[in-house]
Amino acid sequence: MGDLVPRGAAIVDAERCKGCGLCIAACPQNVLSFSGERNRSGYDVAHMERAEACVGCAFCAMSCPDVAITVYRERPEKGEETDV
Ligand code: SF4
Ligand code: SF4
Repeated sequence: MGDLVPRGAAIVDAERCKGCGLCIAACPQNVLSFSGERNRSGYDVAHMERAEACVGCAFCAMSCPDVAITVYRERPEKGEETDV
């Protein structure tokens, strides 16, 4: 069953992030949190605290008013797809 759960990654562009926390609230997997690291504008930047839990749903990216998040979703390689 675990193999059927999609894997993803949400990469935050630290210099675009304004530390609003909307992405953290939007993530159904509780992947994101504040990193405690400030960007050049002084904002506490969001990051993936539980990267292994990301399913690539992109809710975080859709919620970000500063378009600071890019979501990648793992796709099975050809020949690795399994019958269900
Ligand atoms: S892509 Fe989905 S699961 Fe991954 S961090 Fe964003 S909201 Fe959370
Ligand atoms: S929603 Fe965007 S600007 Fe707000 S904390 Fe998340 S990445 Fe930063």
